[in-house]
Amino acid sequence: MEENLNKLQETIKSYLPEADLDPVRKAYLFAKEAHKDQKRLSGQPYFSHPLAVANILASLNLDVTTITAGLLHDTIEDTEVTVLDVEEEIGRLVAGLVEGVSNVTHVARQTRERRRIENLRKVLLATAKDTRVILIKLADRLHNMRTLEHLPLNNRYRIAHETLEVYAPLAHRLGMGKMKGELEDLCLKYLHPEVYCDLKKKINEAIRQREVHIDLTKRILDEKLEKAGIKAEVFGRPKHFMSIYKKMIDQGKSFDEIYDLVGIRIITDDLKNCYGALGIIHALWTPIPGRFKDYIAVPKSNMYQALHTTVIGPASSPIEVQIKTGAMDQIAEDGVAAHFRYKEGSGADKELDEKLSYLKKTFLEWQQNLDSVDPAEFMENLKIDLFTKEIFVFTPKGEIKVLPAGATPVDFAYQIHTEIGDCCLGAKINGRIVPLRHKLSSGDMIEILTSSKAHPSGDWLNFVKTSKAKGRIRQYLREKLLETEPSQAKEAPIQREEKKPQIKKREISSSGISVSGVTNLVLNLARCCNPLPGDEIIGYITIGRGVSVHRLNCPNVLNLSDPQRRIEVFWQPEKEGTYEVEISALTHNRVGLLKDMLEVISATRTIINEADAKTTGDGLAKCHFRIVVNHLDRLKPIIAQLEKVEGVLEVHRTRSK
Ligand code: MN
Repeated sequence: MEENLNKLQETIKSYLPEADLDPVRKAYLFAKEAHKDQKRLSGQPYFSHPLAVANILASLNLDVTTITAGLLHDTIEDTEVTVLDVEEEIGRLVAGLVEGVSNVTHVARQTRERRRIENLRKVLLATAKDTRVILIKLADRLHNMRTLEHLPLNNRYRIAHETLEVYAPLAHRLGMGKMKGELEDLCLKYLHPEVYCDLKKKINEAIRQREVHIDLTKRILDEKLEKAGIKAEVFGRPKHFMSIYKKMIDQGKSFDEIYDLVGIRIITDDLKNCYGALGIIHALWTPIPGRFKDYIAVPKSNMYQALHTTVIGPASSPIEVQIKTGAMDQIAEDGVAAHFRYKEGSGADKELDEKLSYLKKTFLEWQQNLDSVDPAEFMENLKIDLFTKEIFVFTPKGEIKVLPAGATPVDFAYQIHTEIGDCCLGAKINGRIVPLRHKLSSGDMIEILTSSKAHPSGDWLNFVKTSKAKGRIRQYLREKLLETEPSQAKEAPIQREEKKPQIKKREISSSGISVSGVTNLVLNLARCCNPLPGDEIIGYITIGRGVSVHRLNCPNVLNLSDPQRRIEVFWQPEKEGTYEVEISALTHNRVGLLKDMLEVISATRTIINEADAKTTGDGLAKCHFRIVVNHLDRLKPIIAQLEKVEGVLEVHRTRSK
């Protein structure tokens, strides 16, 4: 009688033969009844939509609970039905999922933009508790995108835009390659219809032309793999339109310049054979250097695993090759969804939770700061977290951490622990000191230098990449503001705190110079300007040689590449020391002048390490002295005395050799 219900149940049975399908039947009838007076803009009964969503979820081989919730996903929001009704009728778990995907009630005075963001935030928070919420939301979005042509033009743009900005990257983050590909291609279709049509035509043409080439490659590979006893299937793999379009845009290429419209995919029966197949391919055809990626040994953070390589194929043009096992291929296509298969009744999956921990943690952090997070800020953070590609870095113990590209040691420190982030002072990458705003690269081994006296600075907000670091730094600044200005703190802008951190205490260091809060930095006096107590000084964080201390007006430090590596340093007034400085004088070339100058210096009981004079050939001479003093106050009178010597034109400290 209910043909659609039968079809849906058949599909589920095909991969869950033992499942109890009663909840599906109940939900089907319940939702159909609830939506019975509603129609979609296409003119179809509204129920066709939740049914389609349930079918998408079934096509991902998801569990009965998810599919049941999919059937009901619009009941709370669009009909008289309440969460309690769903709970009583179907069960608590399903009701929770339905509530998670439902939009929050429209609050008057809220702009549509704000409402949209609030809704999305709610969905993501519900997802942190149960990943199935986002799977239903993505299936919902996919069906809405598939039927977008029925909507007015401006709505099409808005929805396609949001899909491209949020839902496609989310699908990517969840490892759902197939879902992401279809969502993106639909976005392209509605955002750039002419481009889409043009690409479609050209790609079909090109694939026809290249069919012979791909077939030949396939035949050669099939034969070689069989000879080697490697069980594998070889497929031609057409690419998604959007990925080709992005390539054209990113690389500024025309369609004809994109050679890899079709790739080769090899699915093997086990892991060992992936590497075996790779060996065969590299023996057959020349690999292009830099294109080999081993995502089996180091999977992407969205769980993707495969070997990638590009070789110059039999027709002397490059071919992209992906090699993976059947299981890896399923994960690549359906990501998180693949993990939920055959896990009837269990929302929690430890292994999966671990793999998704980066994303889940992010969601949970937002939840923790729920009150303090501004929706616009939330959206910005979400985009950053979804869009950025990731890098893999290592702790000193060899643990892998995943961070977005462009992340800094501060992001890394916060990734390890909030307290480490709060106390981080500097960092060593592969044993060398780097500034806190240094951009990390994949493979870096990072050691964070901490101090109990260090604390977050508003300046860090200018370079941190993760929302975790941003959120925590803002929180710290806010708390500090509350401490200092309890009366009007709430209205006070955060910027007021984003000043330089206060210098708490000076520390002893070998060179009589301190950096606020630092105990374990190597400090070197720069040889170019030989700073001396009394001079205004500045530190510059070098790569691998600690902090070099320059005079503030040293041209070298002014010209040094990265102004962000400069740090404040101080002389310790209580510490006595001696310092070699170099002074030069330009003089008339007269007999006995060098002797007169040396006498002036000696009269001040100053040690002279080196003295020399050279004539310049035009009746003038240049004199150099290296002398030892303990303070600028001792040096100044010496220079003044030297300038009074007969024949001396000018005297100055040498800044740079
Ligand atoms: Mn819906």
